This record gives sequence, structure tokens and C-alpha cells, in this order.
Amino acid sequence: MTSPPSPAELVEAAGTGSPRAVARLISLVEDDSTGGPVLREVMRLVAPFTGRAAVIGITGSPGVGKSTSTSAYVTAFRKRGQRVGVLAVDPSSPFSGGALLGDRIRMQDHAGDNDVYIRSMASRGHLGGLSAAAPQALRVLDAAGCDVVLVETVGVGQSEVEIAGLADTTLVLLAPGAGDGIQAAKAGILEIADVFVVNKADRDGAEATTRDLRHMLGMAPSVEGGWLPTIHKTVAARSEGIDEVIDAIEAHRAWLTSTGTLQKRREHRAQVEIEALALGLLRRQMGRLDSSDALADQARAVAAGETDPFTAADTLVAAL
Ligand code: GDP
Repeated sequence: MTSPPSPAELVEAAGTGSPRAVARLISLVEDDSTGGPVLREVMRLVAPFTGRAAVIGITGSPGVGKSTSTSAYVTAFRKRGQRVGVLAVDPSSPFSGGALLGDRIRMQDHAGDNDVYIRSMASRGHLGGLSAAAPQALRVLDAAGCDVVLVETVGVGQSEVEIAGLADTTLVLLAPGAGDGIQAAKAGILEIADVFVVNKADRDGAEATTRDLRHMLGMAPSVEGGWLPTIHKTVAARSEGIDEVIDAIEAHRAWLTSTGTLQKRREHRAQVEIEALALGLLRRQMGRLDSSDALADQARAVAAGETDPFTAADTLVAAL
């Protein structure tokens, strides 16, 4: 029996475009999102190759056409010579690893194209919807040479806000009718969208939805030098209007780069991630303290009036 490839071998193979190596690396990342030794090694190895991919978040209510649109965007980016990764994060699904039905449908359109990686991730019940492993999976796709990574998630609860935190450019998809415009305002979607897409423009009401959106955007306070979200109509099922959306994504990216916003957003994102990891580490160390004599000793001292709880806490933290 041959031993499984090491993380270093996998990272090297992923860098030369091996879809299998990319899949294995994402599995490693998913299996251990709490920072075990394998995940740490993978992240250390990929770090020098990251920071190039444009990360595009795609969100919207179930049924607006996210899967159909994502597939059409992939085709359009491929026509522009870009290597594309797709991360479909499904907060409602307990399954991971590309077993979703949507994946199989998606795959059919891009089967055999080695410059397209498609991957589904479940959320594993992580608060808010987006998988805790999503940022790491993004890094793997970035290091694998993807020029563009599309992160697709269902717009439920917090997940669209989280996706905006992860993406450089956020697309919000709406469909005519069903009061989607109103929903958008409620869900705080106006604030996170860089590009709005009114899909299913072949249906009645697309014009009205576009008008409602424009009206709501007109009422939103605009920031000096800020990006004004654009609105586009598509019929994803017939690949209509897709190129205009891709142009809008590229225009937004040019704006991000020229204003220095891209760098700022990425540093902010890293800061949030580091903080969360550091807090997790501290919490685990505290957990160990919980069952230690040191805590019990301090507790006895406080209860006996020999010391105060602040001093006791200082003593414990200093000992971490
Ligand atoms: P998701 O749940 O947001 O990922 O939506 P899907 O991409 O699965 O699409 C939901 C349904 O809408 C499917 O039956 C699609 O074929 C259909 N659909 C997608 N785009 C369009 C469109 O532009 N026009 C129409 N009429 N149907 C569409």
C-alpha cells in the first residue's frame, strides 16, 4: 500500500493544476477547521501563493437562480481566459465534499474543464451559516491558481452578511415579484451589495423590481468616493445579460484596486480571522484551566476573602 501524499506534495500538485490535489486539500481543511497540525501545515504551505484570486460572493433567496447564474458566470469567465473556482456553501445542508445535487448539475456544464474547480461545503451548524472552513478553502483555491473564486450561498439570515465579509465583490441576486425588493431592504442587503442582478428578466415585473431597487438605492446615503452599486438584468437560463454582469464585477475590482479599498478590506478580513482564531486558542487554554488546580486555588482564595476576583483573574491569565 502506498502512503497518502503529504500536504507538501498536495500543495505542489495543486499549484500545477491537479483537481484531485485541490479536492484533497479542501477535504483536509474541512476535516479540521479548528486548527489541528495538518490544517496548520497546509495553511503555512499555501500562504505564499495566496492573495491573487478575485473573490466574488453570490447570494440571494432560494430559487432566484444562483446555481444557474453561477454556471453562466463560470462560462463567461472561462471565455475571458480565467481559471475559476466555485465554492458553494449551503447552510441548510449537512453534506459536504461535492455530493450535492446542485453540484452534479453544475458539473455537467463544466465537466472535463481542468480550469474549473467546483466544491460544495456544508456549514456544519456554524453560527450564521457560512462554514468555518470557507476562508481556508478559499485560500486553497487561490493557491491553486484560480483567477476568480465564486462563493455562492443561500441568502438566509446572516450568511449574506458573512459572505460580504469574505468576498471582494458581492453580488445580490433578486427575481421579479415575491416582494424581493422589500426583502432586500429588510435583510440589510442594500448595504452589502456591490452589484445587483435582477435575474429571470424574462418574467413579468423585472422592470418594476429594477425600479424599486433604484429607488431604494437613491434613498440610501452615499459615501463620498464610495462605490455606487450597479443594477443588471439577466436571464441566466438563456445566458442573457451575463457579460454585463462580468463587466460590472471587473469594474468594481478596478475601483477596489485603484482606491486601495481591496487592500484595506483584505487586511480587515485577516484581522477578524486572526482575532477569532486567537480567541479560540485562549478559550481552549481556559478550558484546560477550568479543570486545573490553579483555578480551584484562586477560587478558594477569593471565597475566603484572601484575594479579590480581579487579581485572581490576572494571576490566571498571566499563567496561560
Ligand atoms: P437557486 O436556488 O438560487 O440556486 O436557483 P436555481 O439556479 O436552482 O434556479 C431555480 C429555478 O429557476 C430553476 O428551475 C432554473 O431553471 C430557473 N431559472 C434560473 N434562471 C432563470 C431565468 O433567467 N429565467 C427563468 N424563467 N427561470 C430561470
